Amino acid sequence: MSSPIKIALLLIWASTPLIAGKETQIISNYSPFYADGEYHFQNVIIIRSFEQNKDYYFISVDPRTLQTEIIPQKSIRITPETWTDLLKKYASTPYIKALQRVKENPSPLQDAGFIHGFPEEKGATLTIDLCPSKKPLDRIIFKELIQELSKKERPVPVAISITGKFLQKHQSDILWLKTLIKSGDISITWINHTYNHHYNKKASLANNFLLIPGTNISKEILDTEKALLNQGILFSDFFRFPGLISSPRLISQVTDFGLIPIGTDAWLAKGDKIKQGSIVLIHGNGNEPLGIKAFTKLLQEEAPNVTQGNWLLYDLQETIKRSVDDTGIIDTTRADRYIFPTQFDFRNP
Ligand SMILES: [Zn+2]
Repeated sequence: MSSPIKIALLLIWASTPLIAGKETQIISNYSPFYADGEYHFQNVIIIRSFEQNKDYYFISVDPRTLQTEIIPQKSIRITPETWTDLLKKYASTPYIKALQRVKENPSPLQDAGFIHGFPEEKGATLTIDLCPSKKPLDRIIFKELIQELSKKERPVPVAISITGKFLQKHQSDILWLKTLIKSGDISITWINHTYNHHYNKKASLANNFLLIPGTNISKEILDTEKALLNQGILFSDFFRFPGLISSPRLISQVTDFGLIPIGTDAWLAKGDKIKQGSIVLIHGNGNEPLGIKAFTKLLQEEAPNVTQGNWLLYDLQETIKRSVDDTGIIDTTRADRYIFPTQFDFRNP
């Protein structure tokens, strides 16, 4: 479940400038940087470095918990390593196991990565995608989640796949989400969903989304991370492919940035049914009322089970961490997933 420490760290990062009394400057020299580090007597993997307010920082991943953290460079001892060496050194940890599990499962065009939680889950893991949109955030879904689940789960854990463009254009919605984190109503795992989320309605899926020729995957990933950090938001080590479309080469590129792809086995607007342990997908960008309606209905139906403690939402980090010790979470056989929900428009002007 969501750890109180994680929430506290997110709040500190979200609410205070790095240097008290000075205005927080935007991040510069943001770059992938791979190293082995020792911090608070624990080994961590460094994946990024950056500069802000004339100080230098690393972003680390705890390979046992998958938790990301921002660490001042002066507070940690590091040994620069190649990514390949780090993969070898930490091969037995949940983080590296998760990355390798995705890489080693030859993927279809669509829905690469983890699509289901560990078998004993009583409930599901909710992911809400915020692809670029001119419409506002569907706040109703968060209100319903808090209303239906907060007696049993507080904060309610949700994962949000965020695009740089949504972040840029929906400041009031982002501030509203931050107030829900601050009040302890929800905890958010921020998934990188790329900056632009390009989509060409006329192109085939094999030439669409990140497979559009000329796409700069590095820029799509790093610009989103930078945009989040500049808003005081620390991202997780998860990634969702736009349109759920990928290729083995893209999967390799994304995992080499230290990010774990997350698919879904329950895209509600497509009519998928939620099973125990599903990783559920709905769109919260005003684009998919069908999915929102289906999830709201489900919450109401499950209300008696929620009260009895037989249905709950899981933290994505916990789900993936426990999944790598179990089996059957990557499904590469689902040809039906090539079909998008009717009337779904990814561009949503
Ligand atoms: Zn999307």
